[in-house]
Amino acid sequence: MTTTTECIFCNMAQDPMHAAPVYRDDRVFAIKDINPKAPVHMLIIPNMHIASLAYVGPGQVPIMGHMFVVAEEIARREGVTLSGYRLVLNQGEDSGQEIVHPHMHLLGGKKLGAMG
Ligand code: 5GP
Ligand code: ZN
Repeated sequence: MTTTTECIFCNMAQDPMHAAPVYRDDRVFAIKDINPKAPVHMLIIPNMHIASLAYVGPGQVPIMGHMFVVAEEIARREGVTLSGYRLVLNQGEDSGQEIVHPHMHLLGGKKLGAMG
């Protein structure tokens, strides 16, 4: 597994109890966002560090697909499957990405504003 000690999400992946995950399996974990933008704001994070979505190729399709499966499972647990939710993957400066390690935001529990 590729990890880097300077990466907060890699450190959480190595120390799962400290991260207090709401979900964990052998490939991904999920945590509540520390600065929630909606009543439900979860982060679905692969254990594996990928330095950029530019490095996502056919070999990463299983892990990226698994993130969507886990997102729906978390949405169901949080009770937003029917009301709706938004999945966001930020990439690069213009997106406002803070943490390089790829992660999916799951936002819900209120009417979400327009994108952009
Ligand atoms: P990005 O902008 O990189 O897509 O999203 C990073 C997210 O991680 C932000 O929404 C931020 O609030 C969240 N975050 C940053 N540090 C921590 C942390 O230590 N714990 C948790 N739970 N979330 C964090
Ligand atoms: Zn990382």
